[in-house]
Amino acid sequence: MALETIEAQSVRSGDRPNLDDYDALCREFRWADARGLMDGLPDGGLNIAYEAVDRHVAHGNGDRLALRWIDNDEAAHDFSYGDLSDATNRFANVLAALGLQPGDRVFSLLGRTPELYIAALGALKGGHVFSPLFSAFGPEPIKARMTIGGAKLLVTTKSLYRRKVAPIRAELETLEHVLLIDGAEDLPDGTVSLADALAMASGDFDIVATDPEDMALLHFTSGTTGRPKGAIHVHEAVVAHHVTGKYALDLRPGDVFWCTADPGWVTGTSYGIISPLTNGVTMIVDQAEFNAERWYRILQDQRVTVWYTAPTAIRMLMKIGSDLPQEYDLSALRFMASVGEPLNPEAVEWGYQTFGRPFHDNWWQTETGGIMIANYPSMAVKPGSMGKPLPGIDAAIVERADGAVTELTEPGAMGELALKTGWPSMMRGYLDEEERYRKCFSDDWYLTGDLATRDADGYYWFVGRADDVIKAAGHLIGPFEVESVLMEHPAVAEAGVIGVPDPTAGEMVKAYVALKPGFAADDALNRELRGHARKRLGPAVAPKMIEFRENLPKTRSGKIMRRLLKARELGLPEGDISTLESDEK
Ligand code: ATP
Ligand code: MG
Repeated sequence: MALETIEAQSVRSGDRPNLDDYDALCREFRWADARGLMDGLPDGGLNIAYEAVDRHVAHGNGDRLALRWIDNDEAAHDFSYGDLSDATNRFANVLAALGLQPGDRVFSLLGRTPELYIAALGALKGGHVFSPLFSAFGPEPIKARMTIGGAKLLVTTKSLYRRKVAPIRAELETLEHVLLIDGAEDLPDGTVSLADALAMASGDFDIVATDPEDMALLHFTSGTTGRPKGAIHVHEAVVAHHVTGKYALDLRPGDVFWCTADPGWVTGTSYGIISPLTNGVTMIVDQAEFNAERWYRILQDQRVTVWYTAPTAIRMLMKIGSDLPQEYDLSALRFMASVGEPLNPEAVEWGYQTFGRPFHDNWWQTETGGIMIANYPSMAVKPGSMGKPLPGIDAAIVERADGAVTELTEPGAMGELALKTGWPSMMRGYLDEEERYRKCFSDDWYLTGDLATRDADGYYWFVGRADDVIKAAGHLIGPFEVESVLMEHPAVAEAGVIGVPDPTAGEMVKAYVALKPGFAADDALNRELRGHARKRLGPAVAPKMIEFRENLPKTRSGKIMRRLLKARELGLPEGDISTLESDEK
């Protein structure tokens, strides 16, 4: 069983984090002051790319290392803030020469290569709206997103273009330009070589004086619960990207920061591009996919100080075991954080035993644009809790009834997690889905669709997505609690829990379990797991049925797709599976 609490990391180390006194900062914090941390454009306006890149050059820090890109062969390629400023100016000039206007939509379909980062920031400089797509998407999800988003220009590679875009190009009615990043030879018809265009472009560019409320980013949600939504974010969001990175990730000048998320989903942009740069740190970008040895090598060789990753990756590292990390010198690591899914207490504890510090879970959504609830280095960690709201964020547990919202203030009461509207990175709409957007709000609350509780100390605990909660024999059961208990068993690598219809109980709890190497998926283990869960959870909540699986279906952003487990269990249509990892398709 996991520890009750882990003493605050900064208390143990004597280090002084950016957020040193949570209560005091919550009292003093004003978004208007946070806004004052931005420079703004010399001639007025606010632009994310200026705050991320050129501001540092203007302050005399152009030589500082901004981005270290590690290619598939593990060679490092360095970009200073000055280099990024020049490259993004060139990119913005290329778009201007093609006739793109502010507000036009620029899409990327790229792996984690420098061009992705240059395209994102260069497009923002030109006042264009940037929307990153996962490079692993197939033609259909690409078409759907580019059509909804009204893509005018796409940056991609020859191979991705030939395989995925050329077959649908004729149907992409708004698409005018395609820039390919990999050389001028054998260019397919209707495409332009980005390298050539960049080489010819000027390195000077006057950043478009975007208004803080101008649309900047279009991010599609992960599609865990259904058809992905296109969330609109504006330049003002940079204020939240900046301060949440400072407080929830403790980013400081001199840090080497590694966010393992792909910019194809929101974490990889908010915290894989914008926040580390506005905070002036060096960010590591790894081109390759997950590989435990490689990851430990990067942490060691790059002397990573702050590491932001996800529960799925942590569970994969746990599956491989605690011996491997002992072979590496990870002494530079100061802070470890996790996001994207509930982080099982077992994983927090494993981090603590293995790295000498816990993973600090934090919670947010594509819609919130930035971290909303977090565990901070100056606060004790309660494994399994997502922590407390960021300064400036007013969170509550609420109940919706007849269009009105009531706050549930009793500690431990379960309800929907809600946030008072008004923080800078709140989405400004779902593209073309006004009705769906409006349904997220009641009075001045944004309703997240996640269920949670808050304890007497003010810590928030994730229960499950409203759609995933199981109603069995009068109990409301959150899948996370059951999954976490299964994870305590040494044989279990991963668990996904759903409710299946049951004539007497309404629903019955069923678990899908993937095992660690060396364990046999047999009846004895099945019985043992059910026994373990019954002992820990009681018969009403423990799974009645367990099915072993090699893998669980996940989104490309690494989330277990419980709705798909359920649809398959019940023989129902699978719904939108555009974000499903391909090996599960
Ligand atoms: P869709 O909205 O399309 O169904 P999605 O909700 O998975 O997809 P994202 O915006 O990427 O899309 O994910 C946000 C959701 O991820 C949250 O609403 C929550 O359910 C889950 N989540 C993120 N971080 C945490 C966390 N620390 N603990 C628990 N759940 C988390
Ligand atoms: Mg969602």
